[in-house]
Amino acid sequence: MSRVINFGAGPSALPESVLQEAALGLLDFDGTGIGIAEISHRSKQFTAFLNDVESLICTQLEVPPTHSILFTQGGGTGQFSAIVLNLLARHRLLHPDLANEDRVLDYVITGSWSKKATEEARRLGGGRVNVVVDARPYSKDAKSFDNIPPHNTYTFSPDPALIYYCENETVDGVQFSSDVSSPNSFPFHLLPQEGLLPLVADYSSSFMSRPITRLADHAVIYAGAQKNIGPAGLTIIIVRNDCLVDVDAAAKLGAIPVPISMSYKTLADGNSVYNTPPVLPIYISGLVLRRMKELGGVQYFEQLNKRKADKLYAAIQAGEDKGLFKAKVQEGSRSLMNVVFDVIGDEAKFVAGAEEKGMKAIKGHRSVGGIRISLYNAVTEEQTDAIVEYMKQFVSDTD
Ligand code: PMP
Repeated sequence: MSRVINFGAGPSALPESVLQEAALGLLDFDGTGIGIAEISHRSKQFTAFLNDVESLICTQLEVPPTHSILFTQGGGTGQFSAIVLNLLARHRLLHPDLANEDRVLDYVITGSWSKKATEEARRLGGGRVNVVVDARPYSKDAKSFDNIPPHNTYTFSPDPALIYYCENETVDGVQFSSDVSSPNSFPFHLLPQEGLLPLVADYSSSFMSRPITRLADHAVIYAGAQKNIGPAGLTIIIVRNDCLVDVDAAAKLGAIPVPISMSYKTLADGNSVYNTPPVLPIYISGLVLRRMKELGGVQYFEQLNKRKADKLYAAIQAGEDKGLFKAKVQEGSRSLMNVVFDVIGDEAKFVAGAEEKGMKAIKGHRSVGGIRISLYNAVTEEQTDAIVEYMKQFVSDTD
């Protein structure tokens, strides 16, 4: 068996030790004599495992008791719909008499995924979408997602049903700063001031890569597992308990009915086993989370991921100085997870040369082109050094 270095954006690399452990679990889960893909999601052994996964997330991210953790299917795309439906139901219960056009859904658009989420909110209806800010006019060419826009460009609504942003834009390589005093942070200080805000964040491609900034201020945080912690098929939701609302009572008052498998309250009341959860992806994610804890938790990965990204951006800068590479994202808004740049000249040669050295999946998303190197938790510093070395060589060979 020979494994390559996988810089893919998702599904993406997983730690080899975990894959080996998971292979054994496929044959015999926890001494039951039954494989993990074959065992009941209600068995005592799987119940104990699921509780452990929950506590591994809870302790590493310091999730407060005001919030619950849910495990489900449907991916980030499923949550584009679920957040709208659950939070419109909540808003209906809080304000039963408001007309739909007065229920405002606030969307911050900083890249392709938040744009898609906005489109789904528009498609579902039940409220009016307000674009808080669209980052494209603030880009270098006035049409790309290459920046976190300046704070003075955001206009939040006074009492929205939800306020949405995507913490890390996987396609465009744009990420909010985790330092709330930075001009590139999410502007928490500009949010309406009343108590429990319906703030939603898509953390799909940065979940567990570093602590979640102002976690307690969020109503919903969600992520597909298939970037930093596991295979596709598992979606993790951290939801504040006031958002676990009776969606049927809301529907009686005129809210859009919520499919039962998308109702946060139903999932929470059923301890995430109201219906069959993705047992195998939960298992592999649990093994990854255990390993994370042993290595020093999310703080350890924050340091490691920062070092990896610093090295890679420095290599891009060195190539840029020679006119061979061009970083796509403005400084200060650059993602630590998905590093995007253009090769000026022979991009195909750059990709082929990397592949020859066993470094795969570095082509940018088909919608934007260029190069994208994803540095999720399982990509090691040595693997990062390997691509950095290759980039240096490419520059000196071309120069
Ligand atoms: N949000 C972000 C930030 C993503 O990167 C992705 C997937 N790449 C999605 C949402 C959609 O997730 P899924 O494919 O799991 O539906």
